[in-house]
Amino acid sequence: MSHRSTRKGGVVKDSDDMDVLSALQDILDEVVNGREDGHKCPFCKDGVLEATVEPDVKVKLECGSCKRIFEGRLS
Ligand SMILES: [Zn+2]
Repeated sequence: MSHRSTRKGGVVKDSDDMDVLSALQDILDEVVNGREDGHKCPFCKDGVLEATVEPDVKVKLECGSCKRIFEGRLS
């Protein structure tokens, strides 16, 4: 299947920084609740994240500033 690592349905990509991961998890929670716009990027703390919710309960966050992309799976 996929070689991508996952941990308990949270956000796992490109970082082991727990502060960033928890910040991303908070953002994911808000996106799930319908707030898709206006989230600040926890990495560069400057860019605004563009959130895309995909049909298979996946959320993609892309920073308009540092261009980092995160994918979170919802459970
Ligand atoms: Zn950024």
